[in-house]
Amino acid sequence: MSQAFRDAITAPNTRAPAEWCADNVRLVYGSALAPTFSTAMSPWVEEPLNEFFDNANREIVFLGPVGGGKTTMIEAMLSHIVAEDNGPTLVTGQTDSDVRDWAESRMWPVFNANEATSSMLPSRRDKVRKDAIMFDHMPLYLTGANMSGLQSKSIRFLIGDEAWMWETGMIAEFRERMHRRWNGRRLLTGQASFVDDDYHRAFKAGELREWSFECPECGAVQPFIFKQLRWPEEGTNAERAAGCRYHCAACDAGFDDNVATRRDLVQSGRYVVKRAAEMPGHISFHFNVLTLWRASWADTVAAWLNAQDTLRRGDSTELEKLIQKQLAEFWDGEMSINRPAIDEFDGRVEDYADGAEIDDEARRFLTIDVQRDHYWAAIRAWRADASSVLLWYGRVNTEETLEELRQKYNVPTEHTYIDTGYDTGRIYDIICRYGWCGIRGDKARRFQHSRKGRKTDKLYSPIKTALAPCAARARYFFVATDPIKDILARLRGGEGAKWEVVGGVTKAYASQVDSEAREEFLAPKTNQPQSHWVKKKRDNHAWDCEVYQVAAALVWRLFGD
Ligand SMILES: [Zn+2]
Repeated sequence: MSQAFRDAITAPNTRAPAEWCADNVRLVYGSALAPTFSTAMSPWVEEPLNEFFDNANREIVFLGPVGGGKTTMIEAMLSHIVAEDNGPTLVTGQTDSDVRDWAESRMWPVFNANEATSSMLPSRRDKVRKDAIMFDHMPLYLTGANMSGLQSKSIRFLIGDEAWMWETGMIAEFRERMHRRWNGRRLLTGQASFVDDDYHRAFKAGELREWSFECPECGAVQPFIFKQLRWPEEGTNAERAAGCRYHCAACDAGFDDNVATRRDLVQSGRYVVKRAAEMPGHISFHFNVLTLWRASWADTVAAWLNAQDTLRRGDSTELEKLIQKQLAEFWDGEMSINRPAIDEFDGRVEDYADGAEIDDEARRFLTIDVQRDHYWAAIRAWRADASSVLLWYGRVNTEETLEELRQKYNVPTEHTYIDTGYDTGRIYDIICRYGWCGIRGDKARRFQHSRKGRKTDKLYSPIKTALAPCAARARYFFVATDPIKDILARLRGGEGAKWEVVGGVTKAYASQVDSEAREEFLAPKTNQPQSHWVKKKRDNHAWDCEVYQVAAALVWRLFGD
């Protein structure tokens, strides 16, 4: 849509609702800086508020950081709806009690404090309920984002808060309530959630308007971008953050992190259209924490540096929170797995395809991850000092092909390990047929071995056998998955013995091998923080194959005894 056309259709009532709100809405809860509603302190609220009352629009997404003024905006909108532009209205929060608590503690007092709305409040007590106010001229309903609350009513104004927490399918239910009203409108708001969820798709459907500022040096209009912050290399995280400056993306002028500078930049702000709408009448507004001029940029930089530290330990939760809550950007599970490039061995897949050994090779293993109708397999050659080179990785459709691969690469049958966690009976038969060995992940941290009366703990169990459907006995053992993954992560991160990959290994390998990360959680009974490995990508077969490689290397004492 051209700017001129947009202006033509939105011009008649731009500014009006926000101005009306500034004149009429009195905020009665403790916001020290804004006793009456005003967009002077948060100018990024004004345009979304006005667009919400434009009948040319269908759906507004207001995506911003925690503390970005969305609740105040909703309270102003509802006041304007009741007093000026009526229609059945539904406010949806994450749960029934969230939205009702907010209504009781904040919304109803705001209606009472404002003459334009207080005179319209019903006098009969039974018309002001926990879940609704039945005004004479319109109903105002409140519900959580659940099926029962979102059914049947026909609504003109739909306001959806904390939409990032709604369960899958609830945004669709919410939209349905508009019943094709020509003048109906929806608002979805809250911090960001996850790439490809319902809220993200709603955001992508709208014309993207990025909150931008004008560089006082060169005049370039640009969004606030975290990457434009720079800070010193030396010092503690707090010291480095304290030295941060924001740099213009066009002329590189630097701005100090103080309240006057930040406020001046925000006062020059406006929304800039960055992307056309996928659906007509949908507008998506976006801004991030750098816009909230009362907060220092250094706080965000410190949070970023701390999150990078925890990420290096394999824990992505802090970074995830920062990105969703402060930068208001949708989190992609793959962001957490930002590991250095894998060391490449001097040699290519084809150089070793006939079974040739690497220098000083001690042993090689074939490890196999089992899927419903195919396999993923890895061949890695190990030296006595626990250094190793991956020679082959890929998808294999049948067990016969796996056996051919094993022969081609001269892997001894007893060095061929296959996962028995899935379709166990079928895999036991395959183990018996080819003389391989089963391997099974377990939650245990250690397994006890006893040899000539001496007891030792290892990360793998003594060898076991099980009766296979074919009536032979299959050999297998258990491995302590979490500690073995820790060893693999150190090898992968370049902190252990040399861990390399030949050139030309299938592309799937690089993406699948970085598929898990350590995550902290609270133990249910003790409430103590613990951590375990969590899958971050659906396809983690290369990682699984490498876990079995490390387990095999442990069994054959390549890491010492
Ligand atoms: Zn500039």
